Amino acid sequence: MPLIVQKFGGTSVGSIERIKNVANKIKRAVEEGNKVVVVSSAMAGETDRLLTLTRELSSKPDPREQDMVVSTGEQVAIGLISIALKEMGIDAVSLTGWQVPIYTDDAHTKARIKKIDTGRILSELDKGRVVIVAGFQGISDYGDITTLGRGGSDTTAVALAAALNADVCEIYTDVTGVFTADPRIVENAKKIPVISYEEMMEMASLGSKVMQIRSVEFAAKYGVKIHVKSSFIEEDGTWIVEENEEMEKVVVRGISHDLKESRITVVQVPDKPGIAAKLFKALGDRNIVVDMIVQNVSHEGYTDISFTVNKIDAEYAEEIAKEVAKEIGAKGVERNDRIAKISVVGLGMKTHAGTAGKMFEVLYREGINIYAISTSEIKISCLIDEKYAELAVRALHEAFIENTENIVTG
Ligand code: ADP
Ligand code: ASP
Ligand code: MG
Repeated sequence: MPLIVQKFGGTSVGSIERIKNVANKIKRAVEEGNKVVVVSSAMAGETDRLLTLTRELSSKPDPREQDMVVSTGEQVAIGLISIALKEMGIDAVSLTGWQVPIYTDDAHTKARIKKIDTGRILSELDKGRVVIVAGFQGISDYGDITTLGRGGSDTTAVALAAALNADVCEIYTDVTGVFTADPRIVENAKKIPVISYEEMMEMASLGSKVMQIRSVEFAAKYGVKIHVKSSFIEEDGTWIVEENEEMEKVVVRGISHDLKESRITVVQVPDKPGIAAKLFKALGDRNIVVDMIVQNVSHEGYTDISFTVNKIDAEYAEEIAKEVAKEIGAKGVERNDRIAKISVVGLGMKTHAGTAGKMFEVLYREGINIYAISTSEIKISCLIDEKYAELAVRALHEAFIENTENIVTG
């Protein structure tokens, strides 16, 4: 009997009507002869609401207690789905992360899944039940509730699909698949029928939040086949699968944008060995992940060093940079929260030259200044002013995707 994992995002379970719709989909999968494990997010807006409550009491809530609060959204959703299914005559059981159990490390608010005990789920499936698991949460070795970072229900679903050796992991969301750019920004964005794990990983890490990055890493590692599709419209979505040669024919698969980073600049740093090491070691020691780094050409023995961090860490990173700036005799520290990172992603870049030049040309034509650039084998990212983010995404989409030169044949 095939086993499928179906994950429903917040919008998909955003109201009682929508929960009934989800229950109908699950019922159909059961009637088609599948064993079904469901993973649900909290109802739309609920995680934000719970986070706001914690922030009303503290600007830096204790991470363990924050997890205790925000993990409750998913518990409500799975109970409701289970009740809806039972009303339809389908036997179901809801399980929280700790009831499964899904074991994680103890990095509260951004925990990683270490192991899933599948015994309880398998025995419930054997009883002919649909098992509905709370996304986004797990339990640490100390027995505390942890959460997996925003969008973490995707990771719960893929990790369960891997642990259960499921035939497919279906990710139901509010768009009909993965698009060549965020369809809410680019009207002409096209659905991508098949995308490689590698491209999806880049797009997810560069701001395309349709899949949480860690979920795609899991899928790639364990070969989980993912089908991203709509909860509301019946049509084939996007398959995320192993890369094949055909895929390299497309130079640019998609355009991603990310507004979640801040830029910090240490101004007039004495240009001598060991300075960068001091700054970035101090940041690393405090667990701050740095993304882009730019060091300007030195003038009269001084240089500027800029780097980007997640906005959540920006204030702390600025404090640390100020401490280091004092120590090394730099002039000061500046912070800019209104920046955007725009990226073009595609496997074809491995074998086709000219993408960087074309990207810079497009931005130049729109009068957009580039503050920093970073590249990998299959992506190019530019840091720009936040106010130009949508313009840049649309212009790059037009140049690279709507323009057929992108498709290299033969
Ligand atoms: P869910 O609540 O179902 O997990 P998310 O809000 O996390 O849904 O992810 C779906 C959203 O991702 C879409 O509504 C869309 O705006 C956004 N998105 C960003 N980039 C893309 C992309 N390239 N393709 C599809 N959706 C994208
Ligand atoms: N409810 C959590 C969030 O809003 C997890 C998820 O939706 O995947 O981030
Ligand atoms: Mg999501």
